[in-house]
Amino acid sequence: MNEFTALRREVYDANMSIPRNDLAVLTWGNVSVVDRERGVIAIKPSGVSYERLRPEDIVVVDMDCTVIDGTLRPSSDTKTHAVLYRTFEDVGAIVHTHATYCVAWAQALRPIPIFGTTHADHTTVDIPCTPPMSAERINGDYETETGMQIVDYFREHALDAAEVEMVLVGCHGPFTWGASVQKAVANAIALEEIARMATLTLQIDPEAKRLPRVLRNKHYERKHGGNAYYGQPE
Ligand SMILES: [Zn+2]
Repeated sequence: MNEFTALRREVYDANMSIPRNDLAVLTWGNVSVVDRERGVIAIKPSGVSYERLRPEDIVVVDMDCTVIDGTLRPSSDTKTHAVLYRTFEDVGAIVHTHATYCVAWAQALRPIPIFGTTHADHTTVDIPCTPPMSAERINGDYETETGMQIVDYFREHALDAAEVEMVLVGCHGPFTWGASVQKAVANAIALEEIARMATLTLQIDPEAKRLPRVLRNKHYERKHGGNAYYGQPE
């Protein structure tokens, strides 16, 4: 037990929800949570399978990814998470998976078109897919550059990380985030379903049309924003 025990438990539970929801196998994927007051990120250790993962294995690093508490090495993707936390200041947790349908779209280098209201409940635009990383970026500080690939794409396309909490990194796979770890995990689950539904839609009708703007806005706004009325009041 120490000052990070509760944070570790939260991150452990979130990581274990990844295989439980069929979003990754073996050691793939990782969940992290940032504690901005203390300036620390807690994340899954590198190369540890979900079957063997224990709460005390969760690694605590500072915002520059130096380990400050824990006996194992942090996930190799820690620097990607850190770039996103440093850039998107309202993000409280990040999930990275290799969920099958998301990866299929990422490998095809295709943003996921907004075909229906399930998608519109989360965002009013296509799920972004970054281009493949350049050789320069891949041969540089790869994991930091993976984060920069996302950040640059959001800047170039004027996307707001508070409104679009999910992205596909081209040739790789999905990253999702949220203000809370529950939201970040829910977004990872939802994104895989959105990817699966879009795949099936195109199988049935390769010419399927995007959702009309009026329906996109209706679904998004009834769940988000000042006049939201979906669910129960807090
Ligand atoms: Zn990955």
